Amino acid sequence: MKICGWGRYPTIDAKVLLPQTHGDCTNFLKSNQIVLPRGMGRSYGDSANSSVVIQTSYLDHFIEFDVSTGVLTCEAGVSIREILQLIVPKGWFMPVTPGSSFITVGGAIASDVHGKNHHLSGTFSEHLLSLELMLGDGEILSVAKDVYPDLFRATCGGMGLTGIILSASFQLKPIQSSQIIQSTIKTNCLEEIYEQFESNYASTYSVAWIDCLTKGKQLGRSLLILGEHLQDGVLEFKKQKTLNLPFDIPKLFLNHHSIKAFNAIYYHRVFSKIKTEVIPLERYFFPLDSIGNWNRLYGKAGFVQYQFVLPIAAGVKGMRQILEVIVGSGKGSFLAVLKAFGTANKNFLSFPIKGYTLALDFKTSKETTELIKKLDSMVVEMGGRIYLTKDALMSETSFKKTYLQWEQFEEVRAKYGAIGKFASSQSKRLGLR
Ligand SMILES: Cc1cc2nc3c(=O)[nH]c(=O)nc-3n(C[C@H](O)[C@H](O)[C@H](O)COP(=O)(O)OP(=O)(O)OC[C@H]3O[C@@H](n4cnc5c(N)ncnc54)[C@H](O)[C@@H]3O)c2cc1C
Repeated sequence: MKICGWGRYPTIDAKVLLPQTHGDCTNFLKSNQIVLPRGMGRSYGDSANSSVVIQTSYLDHFIEFDVSTGVLTCEAGVSIREILQLIVPKGWFMPVTPGSSFITVGGAIASDVHGKNHHLSGTFSEHLLSLELMLGDGEILSVAKDVYPDLFRATCGGMGLTGIILSASFQLKPIQSSQIIQSTIKTNCLEEIYEQFESNYASTYSVAWIDCLTKGKQLGRSLLILGEHLQDGVLEFKKQKTLNLPFDIPKLFLNHHSIKAFNAIYYHRVFSKIKTEVIPLERYFFPLDSIGNWNRLYGKAGFVQYQFVLPIAAGVKGMRQILEVIVGSGKGSFLAVLKAFGTANKNFLSFPIKGYTLALDFKTSKETTELIKKLDSMVVEMGGRIYLTKDALMSETSFKKTYLQWEQFEEVRAKYGAIGKFASSQSKRLGLR
């Protein structure tokens, strides 16, 4: 069948294997030369694409949940959404969650995902107690920070290239309410949003929506959205009503003017300098999950999500330079998201480094490819890097210049027999063996 990531670009023909047991996984590994594990395909580019994928849809069982300590063990195909339905009513929450709940635990580990609390809580793998990994020859190893530490560092953030994650055990975070106190602060330019991030560093959650089409003095005008768990209240995770886009949005409606209008309306919907309200956690963490297939917004050809991080040293000046190029291209997106990152961890390919990260969408086109090439060279020059789970276009040179531990990653893969067994369209493009 045809498979693709959430950006619907690129699409390839693939054999999709659906194991129900560990025995099935072993047999699939034996009968196929090269494979790639796959979760819900919510990575945007080609990191979950390969001509043979082992999809974990049926490896989706809960194994153990200790309600008193908040330790959860489940198979890799369980989604964050399913976990929240189980744990929120019992007073627990994910220690780290990305902006969609439709992703699997295996995908969260392989991308070493971050949330709106990276500056204080790090990535998902920093809350992992252990994971079970099936190597290319079918052997199953129990791996943790201090048990096969090299394999742990390669698997977390390793984009499925070390083996199949079968299950994982991790520490949840206690909550007293499923409501979030959301404070929205309106800022007039990029410099002001950086200042606001700094002065609100102690906030548990922070994320900014940034207008990526306004020029001049107002370049980078934003809404900083802070969040804190309410200390007392109901504990429920409601099934959100999901709207579905019934068709791909025609090209005609998707242009500089419509995106600019959307950005202006979004910015001006907040009237005052600060607005505070109490909202359900699903609205704070997963606003896009309520539109089932919003990835059709960019039309049939699909889109590329571009997420990069710049180190602190690049400063607001570096971010301004990049934003000027984006604004100048007229190719900004509906939603551009800015976040502050805390300290990097030790995993070989995990994305976050201390600094600021910006994510935005570009409709797929020749000009987009040219623009991204230009942006890549600026990001590399400033000591930043591109997020692998969003990437579809990065060159091998840019990858190797910015993920400086890629050789150690390859050594660990060689040691545990992953080379020549696990590969993706992305790993081939980036020159991994
Ligand atoms: C709306 C939206 C918002 C998002 N927000 C964020 C965010 O805030 N922060 C963030 O970090 N990410 C974010 N993401 C990206 C998403 O969290 C990651 O791409 C995640 O890896 C997707 O999980 P998945 O189960 O769909 O994995 P897939 O997309 O299927 O696979 C992703 C990678 O994981 C590997 N993999 C999957 N399962 C396994 C397994 N069992 N064993 C080994 N490897 C495996 C695959 O080989 C592939 O390399 C967002 C995505 C969307 C669509």
